[in-house]
Amino acid sequence: MEDTYNELIKYIDKERVLVNEPMSKHTTFKIGGPADVFVIINNLEELKAVLKLAKENNVDLTCIGNGSNTLVKDKGIRGITIKLNLKEITIDDNIIKVEAGTTLPILSRIACENNLSGLEFACGIPGSVGGAVYMNAGAHGGEFKDIVTETTYLDENLNIKTISNEEHKFSHRHSIFAETNDIIISTTLQLQKSNKEEILQKMQTYLEMRIERQPIGLPSAGSVFKRIDDIIPAEIIDKCGLKGYNIGDACISEKHAGFIVNNGKATAEEVLEIIEHIKKVVKEKYNVSLEPEIKILGED
Ligand code: FAD
Repeated sequence: MEDTYNELIKYIDKERVLVNEPMSKHTTFKIGGPADVFVIINNLEELKAVLKLAKENNVDLTCIGNGSNTLVKDKGIRGITIKLNLKEITIDDNIIKVEAGTTLPILSRIACENNLSGLEFACGIPGSVGGAVYMNAGAHGGEFKDIVTETTYLDENLNIKTISNEEHKFSHRHSIFAETNDIIISTTLQLQKSNKEEILQKMQTYLEMRIERQPIGLPSAGSVFKRIDDIIPAEIIDKCGLKGYNIGDACISEKHAGFIVNNGKATAEEVLEIIEHIKKVVKEKYNVSLEPEIKILGED
C-alpha cells in the first residue's frame, strides 16, 4: 500500500490520509481492525481522484458514513476506505439539498430551525445522510423514502448521476445503493412548512423514547436484524430469553434485545458469534430466519 499512499498524498493533505487506521475509531460499535489506508474526503475533486486511483491500480475501495450501522471485522479493511467530509446544506423554501457527510441529528435540527417538518424521525439516528439514503433509515413511522426527491452520486466510471425517488428502489432498510459501488454525494429532501415549536416538541418526544428504550450509553450499531413483515426481531429475541446473553464483552442488551452492545473490549468475532447464536435459537424456536440489518465489512 506504500505506492497507493504516496500517490494519495500528492493531492490530499497528509493529515487526512491515515495508514493502518483502527476502524474502532470510526464506528459507533467501537469495534474493527485497521483500514490499510483511511482517507477523509473534503471535496468532489478529491473523491474523483481517489476513485480513479483505486480503479487504475485495482485497489479495493470501501465507503463508510458515520459507521453507525457497520461492524468491521477484526482483521480490518484492505485497500482504501473513504469517509466523506462533505457537509454543505442549501435550503430553498421547503426543499433541502444536503451533502452525504452531514449527520442526521444536525440535519434535523437545521430543518427545525427553518420551520421545516418531515425530518423529526431522524433526530436520534446517529448516521450520515449518505448512510441514511443507502439504508433507507427510518424510525417512528418515517423513512428516507418518504422525503427524498432525488440523489446525486458518483458511479464507478466517475460519472456524476442523479436518480429520482422511484429509481432508489427503496424498501425496508434497503436502497439500490446496496446493489452497486456508487458513492452518494448529496440528496434532496422535500419537507413541509410547519411550526418550530411543534417540530421541536416531536423531536424531544422521540429522543426521550430512545433514552427510555435503547442502550444509548453503550457502543452499538443499533438494531442488528431487519424486521420481517410484522415480526419485530427485538420481541422475538426477548421471547427466546436471550437478553443479557454474552460472549466476552459483546452482549445482547438487557434494555433492548434487538441491540448487541460492546461492554468494553468486544471483538467483531464475538459479535458475529452472538449473531449466529441468535439466528440459530430464533430459527429453532420460531422457525423465523432473521437477517442482519447491519453491514459487515472487512477481511475474514
Ligand atoms: P454506515 O454505518 O457508515 O454505513 C452503512 C452502509 O452505507 C455501508 O454499507 C456503507 O458502505 C454505506 N454508505 C455510507 N455512506 C455512503 C455513501 N456516501 N455512499 C455510498 N454508500 C455509503 N437506523 C435506523 O434506520 N433507524 C433507527 O432508529 C436507528 N437507530 C439507531 C440507534 C443507534 C444507537 C445506532 C448506533 C444506530 C441506529 N440506526 C438506526 C442505524 C444507523 O444509524 C442507520 O442505518 C444510519 O442510516 C447509518 O448511517 P451511517 O452513515 O452511520 O452509515
